[in-house]
Amino acid sequence: MPDTLIVATHNAHKTGEMRKILGDLFDSIEDLTSIPGLVPPVEDGETFSENSAIKALAASKEKPEALILADDSGLEVDALAGAPGIYSSRFAGEDATDADNREKLLEDLSGKSERGARFRCVVTIAKNGEVLCSFDGAVEGTIAETMTGEGGFGYDPVFIPEGYDRSFGELSEEIKNGMSHRGRALEKFREWWKQNGG
Ligand code: IMP
Repeated sequence: MPDTLIVATHNAHKTGEMRKILGDLFDSIEDLTSIPGLVPPVEDGETFSENSAIKALAASKEKPEALILADDSGLEVDALAGAPGIYSSRFAGEDATDADNREKLLEDLSGKSERGARFRCVVTIAKNGEVLCSFDGAVEGTIAETMTGEGGFGYDPVFIPEGYDRSFGELSEEIKNGMSHRGRALEKFREWWKQNGG
């Protein structure tokens, strides 16, 4: 079992989910606090895939010997022509909080009956300054009329996954991780790792 996987994020919720989903594969799963010299890269890609690779490569170039996993993810809302998409973390503005973003989303959808949406995620694996592989995942659902639940992060309290009548904010971590965009992308990574890595 290789010792350490470094997740190229400062988002403690994302790292927590990675630990729950991949914890059995690695001795430890760390985040970017273990690469203090890293200057955050400009995420100027046009897709989740491009931004995921930008984050993975920046971390890998700073710490080439480490196995790096980067995640880029977001919410696509049908009635908003796919927005906020890659701009999910700053939907309500550059310094927006998760709560600001959720409020803007509910306002933008106010009175609309079309509520279809999906979370998407692309994870990129890098080592020695090169991309080794990448995997994607998605989960379909609808945007609720109001926020419910305290769990998760980001848009979880307003996203109701297909087949459920409760939001990701209300559902348990196990249920979310078992069907989420991130969970699905990471399960593909797990299969790849079994063949090529650990
Ligand atoms: P990133 O960190 O640049 O990939 O931005 C991801 C943004 O998408 C987050 O700030 C959230 O707003 C949203 N997001 C991604 N994954 C999730 C999730 O699992 N639940 C809720 N919101 C998410």
